Amino acid sequence: MKEVEIQTQERSQFLDITAAVREAVQESGIRDGRATVFVPHTTAGITINENADPDVVRDMLSVLDELVPWRGNYRHAEGNTAAHVKSSLMGSSAAVLVSAGRLQLGVWQSIWFCEFDGPRTRKVLIEIHKG
Ligand code: ZN
Repeated sequence: MKEVEIQTQERSQFLDITAAVREAVQESGIRDGRATVFVPHTTAGITINENADPDVVRDMLSVLDELVPWRGNYRHAEGNTAAHVKSSLMGSSAAVLVSAGRLQLGVWQSIWFCEFDGPRTRKVLIEIHKG
């Protein structure tokens, strides 16, 4: 398993971590199988989406803010309920197939780390499975 540290800069932002996952595939030497990317945090997430037009990520962040405003009728005393909800909406892991030593992502797809309560130092765990 590979552990990658990420420093986020904003309260909410998406960071493209595809290169780190590709590197983990190369280091593993596994040609065919699957990459699992897992985020061990309750106010961050993982998603796969478009990398070509940065407005897609901006729009996604904007839609998430509209769906789950930072202030609301929440009880959680830490004050970051919106970040917890967005984390569950995006999910805490993603799986990508590996074939011939390459991630089988579509041309426009990237793997995005989703920060919802930054800036913070975060961890991403990457495991490459054979078969
Ligand atoms: Zn909390």
